[in-house]
Amino acid sequence: MVNKIYSELGIKPIINAIGSVTLLGGSTQPKQVIDAMQSAQDMYVPMDELEQKAGDFIAKLFGAEACYVTSGAGSALTLTTAAFMAGDDDDLIVKLPDTTGMKDEILIQSRQRYHYERCLTYAGAKLVEFGNKDLVTSDDLEKSITDKTVAVHYVANETINDPNALSLEETIEVAKSNNLYVMVDAAGQIYPLDNLSKYSNMGADSVSYAAKYFGAPHSTGFVVGTQEIVDKVALQSFISYEMRRVRGVGRPQKIDRQEIIGAVEAAKMWMNTNHEDRLAKAEKTCLKIASYIKDIDGIEVEVQENTIGHDPHGVKIKLTKENASLIDVQNALRDGEPRIWIRCDQDMEGNFNKRLTRISPFGLYEGEAEIVGERLAEELNKL
Ligand SMILES: *Cc1c(COP(=O)(O)O)cnc(C)c1O
Repeated sequence: MVNKIYSELGIKPIINAIGSVTLLGGSTQPKQVIDAMQSAQDMYVPMDELEQKAGDFIAKLFGAEACYVTSGAGSALTLTTAAFMAGDDDDLIVKLPDTTGMKDEILIQSRQRYHYERCLTYAGAKLVEFGNKDLVTSDDLEKSITDKTVAVHYVANETINDPNALSLEETIEVAKSNNLYVMVDAAGQIYPLDNLSKYSNMGADSVSYAAKYFGAPHSTGFVVGTQEIVDKVALQSFISYEMRRVRGVGRPQKIDRQEIIGAVEAAKMWMNTNHEDRLAKAEKTCLKIASYIKDIDGIEVEVQENTIGHDPHGVKIKLTKENASLIDVQNALRDGEPRIWIRCDQDMEGNFNKRLTRISPFGLYEGEAEIVGERLAEELNKL
């Protein structure tokens, strides 16, 4: 693994067995996406037109009403909250994150607190929690609504599908009968494909997706939702800041035309990929890795069946042996040659679970599964 560009900077590349994470640069663009981005360089275009047409194109592709390309799902969340609070009132748009005189409370259920919620408060919104840790009901939501409430947030995760959380259907029902917006973080819910339109068609006003998960530039994402909200999101964006001279919070969340074109091309490819082949390949990679470690004492190895979402399959390793830690394996692989990154499960505070890790096939290039398998076997045998 020698790469001139990285070695010139003194960086030794790693093998990514964690998956699509921001920490490691998120995504790899297929050649078709790179080529589209390259050709976008050949001329300038008005960015507002590009945003408009790219959004229309993607909305149609996904089967949704409207779409806006943003600087990642994180920015999609931020711009959406700004749009909810300030609407199309320029006097309010320039005031954020000062929310004086605006409805600025966004409700979030206790079972869905997570680290991306910071993207919601960035533009000045305040989070108000409803429900308790064990169970969240419609009644909890109903009771937490005040005259400052502007929206309800919902985190979609179909891999977990938490039965004790308030469902999206119920969330929408209560929110709509109280004239509140509903925003959904569906960043990773990119497969099955109808998930790309499902939540907005159910009645969510805005749904955020991360394009990093399907081969677009890591720095892109989408707001998919109603035309009303997408138009209001546009007023918050870096383009509006420059074109209309209305200084919204979106200016630092700039994306370039190559990235927007890359996001369009990647979305096109994603909708037309042979997903059976993609999933079969991921499973095969996992089976290969598992074959190196499945008979090692003191661990349980499982190739996961999951095909929903952005990171199918995976090899789950559970440590059963006493007085040992997978964190030692994690560290040894990071310090080894070649450097391999795996990650033990983490809680909200970032503490590692020394008994549990999952190897993802997502970020592995050709020939790397074998290396990961061999190195894992070597280190697991030392425990
Ligand atoms: C990755 C992710 C985000 C942030 O997306 P970016 O495009 O990296 O800004 C938000 N929410 C969830 C659930 C994610 O997985």
